[in-house]
Amino acid sequence: AAKRAGGNSYALFEARMDVDVHAQVSLQAELRHAAERGELALFYQPKVDGRGGQIHSVEALLRWYHPQRGLLGPAQFIPLAERFGFITQIGQWVIDEACRQMREWSERGVHIRVAINLSAQQLRDVDLVGRLDRAMRRYGIDPSRLLCEITESVAMEDIEATQRVFEGLARIGVFLSIDDFGTGYSSLSYLRQLPAKQLKIDRGFVQDLETSKDARAIVDAVVQLAHALSLKVVAEGVETEGQRAVLISLGCDELQGYLFARPMPAPDLLRWMLDDAPGETGDFAASVIDEG
Ligand code: C2E
Ligand code: MG
Ligand code: MG
Ligand code: MG
Repeated sequence: AAKRAGGNSYALFEARMDVDVHAQVSLQAELRHAAERGELALFYQPKVDGRGGQIHSVEALLRWYHPQRGLLGPAQFIPLAERFGFITQIGQWVIDEACRQMREWSERGVHIRVAINLSAQQLRDVDLVGRLDRAMRRYGIDPSRLLCEITESVAMEDIEATQRVFEGLARIGVFLSIDDFGTGYSSLSYLRQLPAKQLKIDRGFVQDLETSKDARAIVDAVVQLAHALSLKVVAEGVETEGQRAVLISLGCDELQGYLFARPMPAPDLLRWMLDDAPGETGDFAASVIDEG
């Protein structure tokens, strides 16, 4: 199409593509060494109990402290790792680091569940269950403390792989969560077959809750459905008091979003739990110790 437009547009288009490809190639080369150079970090964002404000778990979200570009979010580099075929190595770092952090927390008396995110290619890794199992053994982590989040669309991409991985993970006692629910197209019968514990309602629906009757009806239906299948419901991307009120009235079990806390480095999370967490500090202590 660019060529037919005539003039230099084709060459220009190609030149721009070259720059882009070049930038991506050098970025992925740097990313390959980011872990060993200590540039990767996990930030943690709490999931807050809908009623009491207790914190049962946190989600680990990957960050890259790029020496020149500064702090990068996963959208800026995870697709590269997937395209260039080394997401499994990055994922391995995430698994190890999450387990190491859980261990460190539990040695300090903080027994909290941690959720990690898995990508499409990790789901296809035949050794995924083994990797998680080894990391948990190495750090002495009870598998029920680890959650794996897989987006609904990834789960639907390769139904057989998903089924196999979910069953393998359930067998070793790892909890599963279906992320960004509502954006894929799962059939109800399929959802019923997955041994998941948690369903996370996509931020898109949460955003529209106060203005759209449809969004509200969808969230209502999803909560009913999830509960009928004995799944806990988490709403992601909660930013306003209004959204919080609606979500609680619809029976959402846990809430996550900037209204409560942004993803933050581990030391900040501990400080937040003691100082700023909703509910009483005692509630928090009780919730993490009770489950320990
Ligand atoms: P996700 O798992 O759905 O995570 C939620 C994203 O929404 C996070 O973005 C989080 O920072 C952001 N978020 C949380 N609360 C709010 C809110 O109230 N408002 C808004 N506007 N955003 C909010 P982040 O950290 O940039 O991560 C983006 C995605 O990258 C994640 O989506 C997840 O799919 C993926 N990801 C993150 N860490 C990893 C990882 O270690 N491995 C893999 N494979 N994927 C990861
Ligand atoms: Mg997630
Ligand atoms: Mg999500
Ligand atoms: Mg999301």
